[in-house]
Amino acid sequence: MKLSTHFTLEELTFSETAARHNLDNVPSQKVIENLKRVATVLEQIRAVVNRPIMVSSGYRSPAVNRAVGGSMSSAHMQGLSADIRAAGMTPRELAEAIKHNAVKFDQLILEFDRWVHVGLAVDEPRNQVLTIRFGTGYMQGLV
Ligand SMILES: [Zn+2]
Repeated sequence: MKLSTHFTLEELTFSETAARHNLDNVPSQKVIENLKRVATVLEQIRAVVNRPIMVSSGYRSPAVNRAVGGSMSSAHMQGLSADIRAAGMTPRELAEAIKHNAVKFDQLILEFDRWVHVGLAVDEPRNQVLTIRFGTGYMQGLV
């Protein structure tokens, strides 16, 4: 099922961990609506960088979120975030491009220099930009 021109429900709900441990990762209708919002933002990002966007994690059921060690309040559990990379760009370059363009987000997090977490808000977006690395925890900005 298509959520937007370039993104499908399958890619935004696929979880290797869910498959490996046989965990339920079927989204509710509410989550699907949220994933459509995420897909719309991913289209904007795709247009900004003019490259395909790869999603490594979108929706995570509570069971899947626990299995991957996600935060207890993770927006992934509401289908409001995606972890992404862009072909031919470092995660840092991708995060900079998102930050410096008119993409509306709640949280933009450069995670371990390996992927970029883009989270949307239920209400007012915080426009928060963070970096997380092993050993440091969360730091303000792209550092
Ligand atoms: Zn994430």
